[in-house]
Amino acid sequence: MISAPERKIKQTGCDVRFDNLTRQLYATDASIYQIEPIGAAFPRSAQQASGVIRAAADAGVSVVPRGAGTSLSGGAIGEGLIVDFSRHNRQIPDLNIENRSVHVGAGVVLDQLNDFLRPRGFCFGPDVATSARATLGGMIANNSSGAHVPIYGTTADHVLSLEIVMADGRIEKICPGHETLRAEREKIDNLIRAHIREMSERMPPGLMKRWPGYGLERFLRAPNNLNEILAGSEGTLAAIFSAELKISPLPREKGLGLIFFASVAEAMQATVELLDLKPAAIEHIDRPLFDQTCSFEQRAICSNWIPNRANRFCSSSSTKVWPSDCRPCKRESSGCA
Ligand SMILES: Cc1cc2nc3c(=O)[nH]c(=O)nc-3n(C[C@H](O)[C@H](O)[C@H](O)COP(=O)(O)OP(=O)(O)OC[C@H]3O[C@@H](n4cnc5c(N)ncnc54)[C@H](O)[C@@H]3O)c2cc1C
Repeated sequence: MISAPERKIKQTGCDVRFDNLTRQLYATDASIYQIEPIGAAFPRSAQQASGVIRAAADAGVSVVPRGAGTSLSGGAIGEGLIVDFSRHNRQIPDLNIENRSVHVGAGVVLDQLNDFLRPRGFCFGPDVATSARATLGGMIANNSSGAHVPIYGTTADHVLSLEIVMADGRIEKICPGHETLRAEREKIDNLIRAHIREMSERMPPGLMKRWPGYGLERFLRAPNNLNEILAGSEGTLAAIFSAELKISPLPREKGLGLIFFASVAEAMQATVELLDLKPAAIEHIDRPLFDQTCSFEQRAICSNWIPNRANRFCSSSSTKVWPSDCRPCKRESSGCA
């Protein structure tokens, strides 16, 4: 027996499923939580997404946009309608080498995008560990980043424009200086300005990576740019259908430095000093992980390097040489001791 909200949502013509198997599949993501939704929708176009989201809103059903579901905090699950952007929305319709930008559907997976960009000499900088699954829509919504955050920043730093679907079904394009959604921008601006002192204390500029909710301090620095609020909003403000993103030239050379420390505390202290060398990434690897990562053949080489003591820690600092026009690193080469 189909319920009235389900009938209303089905009438939009979008591919929608309310069967038990679909509800169970979409009841989980990579978090510890489990919430059974009423169903899942698979829009093929922004118009279909608009229709299905508006129908859900009219029927009083909440909407949860979803990419690959690799989110760790339960952001991709909910009791309403899951709108899955990863099934059909995987096109890369436009690459503009001159502007260093690419246009992607929200369901494009990060590895798919980099496989497309690499032969052309480019990459998308932020490198989540789940790159084989994570979608660009999910990365924007989570403002994701990876080990190379010192050189590439987070996903929000790479968003040029977004095609979004609002809760009332409006399809809007947002980018810096756009005139759309003026009322929404003013409302957010007023809210932020009312809390400006607390924000500047708790969110000082210069933090490379921070995760507490909306990018209020980014919006404060660029008040005409709603991208800054959409990035990191975890699907609570609008659904992202497609995005125009900045791309970066591939590094011309790469280098890796390994430094061994007797304790985690020493390694952490050295990390602060190593940042002066502008490394592309610094990763801390403890002894048990290092041992497990070494294959049997590699172990022979590793054991020549590292004294075989169980309580020894090592930290690797990788530095890379970037094209001189790449954002943070202007030097021809860099290295670490
Ligand atoms: C082992 C492991 C390692 C991880 N490592 C990292 C890491 O290195 N760095 C990192 O940042 N994260 C990491 N994550 C978390 C997660 O993989 C990333 O945040 C990833 O970018 C989420 O993408 P997704 O497509 O899976 O999004 P989902 O999990 O599907 O969704 C994430 C959030 O975005 C919203 N959303 C998804 N698509 C849209 C859309 N089209 N429009 C609007 N909102 C949308 C959802 O509602 C949800 O709130 C890791 C997770 C795991 C399990």
